[in-house]
Amino acid sequence: MHQQLSQLPIEHQIEKLTISLVNINSINGTAGEGKIIEFVYDTMQTFPYYQKNPSLLWTTDVKNDPIGRKNLFACVKSPKETTKTIIYHSHLDTVDIEDYGNSKEYALSPQHLEEFFKTYNGNKDVQKDALSGDWMFGRGAVDMKSGAAVHIANILYFSNHLEELDGNLLLILNGGEESEHDGIIDALDELSRLKIEENLDFLMAINTDFTTPLYRNDPHRYIYTGVAGKLLPSFHIYGREVHVGDTLSGIDPNYIAAKITERIHNNFELTKQIEGETILPPTCLHQRDTKETYTVQTASASHIYFNYFLYEETPNQVINKLKTVTQQVCLEAEQYLQQQYEKYVEFSKVPKSDLSWHLEVVTYHEFIAYLNQKGINTELIIKEVLEKNVGQESRHQAFAIVNALQKADPEYRPRVILFFAPPFLPHNYFKENVERDQLLKQTITKVVDEVASETGEQFEVKRFFPYLADGSFLSIHATEKELYELLGNFPEWETLYPVPFERIRALNIPSVTMGVYGKDGHKWTERVFKPYSFGILPSLIRKTTNELFKVHHH
Ligand SMILES: [Zn+2]
Repeated sequence: MHQQLSQLPIEHQIEKLTISLVNINSINGTAGEGKIIEFVYDTMQTFPYYQKNPSLLWTTDVKNDPIGRKNLFACVKSPKETTKTIIYHSHLDTVDIEDYGNSKEYALSPQHLEEFFKTYNGNKDVQKDALSGDWMFGRGAVDMKSGAAVHIANILYFSNHLEELDGNLLLILNGGEESEHDGIIDALDELSRLKIEENLDFLMAINTDFTTPLYRNDPHRYIYTGVAGKLLPSFHIYGREVHVGDTLSGIDPNYIAAKITERIHNNFELTKQIEGETILPPTCLHQRDTKETYTVQTASASHIYFNYFLYEETPNQVINKLKTVTQQVCLEAEQYLQQQYEKYVEFSKVPKSDLSWHLEVVTYHEFIAYLNQKGINTELIIKEVLEKNVGQESRHQAFAIVNALQKADPEYRPRVILFFAPPFLPHNYFKENVERDQLLKQTITKVVDEVASETGEQFEVKRFFPYLADGSFLSIHATEKELYELLGNFPEWETLYPVPFERIRALNIPSVTMGVYGKDGHKWTERVFKPYSFGILPSLIRKTTNELFKVHHH
């Protein structure tokens, strides 16, 4: 491969590498995730630098991974003795190709798709782009095999121009990003080892994940200096189940669930707007009762969970806010259901019974404390649930734990229990009062301004990468106290979501997204814009690298 690449200018190297990577099926959850890492390893092995220094290119197997995921590491050492190191990182897995429908067999063939879209009348914008010759199509073209190709080509460049390197580079390529980020999480072990054994000092990480216009005809290229986090606030709702003939005495958990969703889904009042940032409200991802078959009983319980992006808030602020919303909902439901019952008593002249429609709202942390105080062995109950549910989806297990605890309460009463289920992605951003962060920010701004005036590109530097990214796992913004509060409401996180949060806090590597640019990530019209992604971006990253080492020379 090196022989072919060495004949080409860098933008064509990247194009060629991207096509080769798109051609390999590496859909998340398939064995292809490991195979594509092997392909890159074989390719990079042919680089003269790794011929000479074979120990600086290696892969690791992701531990306890049933599909054989691997991580690739490639180091380029500066000829100067220095510990300063910049990380380049990318993921090589992709989402599924079902969205290509009848064209599925061409999903991994950029040239074929380009021809197809040239005559495609279904979307004029796509057709225009295909006809321009400036765009490459295919699954993973923009998210983000082209980004990995940019890093690989820059590694090749610097390994041939060591004299330009005032610090070391470490490339990390991984899979698992499009689901639960197992690749980067596993790579943390190797990063910690390198930090301790090789004494590497990681200044910053650059992720090339995809960036995209934020509105129609948006002329900007966005650089993101941090990443939004994500929580999965979950609600286990217990009502009072009744036969339909007795509906007015019941508390239907589906009714409560509907009201909670109505209050939270897409509600901008729950998110503080941050000037100049793309801030998204919570989204309902799941709402279902626990009935398995048709009956004329109302459901006994209902489950909901939401995607909740985390920007500047702490997880504890989030759960308190959602608890307040839920308490309000339950109060309204109580009043409404009571009124309906009283009307019924009045109309049908039946004797009134002594019923309450009150629902208690508690967090998981509060509920555990309550049960423990009653002398209930919650640890044992949880252990039994985990044993019974081995291999089940982690969210299912979390709900099962909450359910077993509710059943163990002798006062089993109508109740909403709030907790966090996996995944949790830490948020991070440059802090105003941390010197290191401000220095990085200044350096990035300086380089971006230079590249803007050289090329005419309109850059905008933002704080939060608006999609979920592997950079979440390289540093964690939450303080020890905030983390403790979060994990207190996260049932059995050590088992269900064993993320080494303490290790992340110790590594504390800021990850900046200088991404490839394209449109329609995760859609069958996914495409990467070549002139910027293959021409300008690689040099922007090299300049940032040089400048960072210059600023941190001592
Ligand atoms: Zn991506």
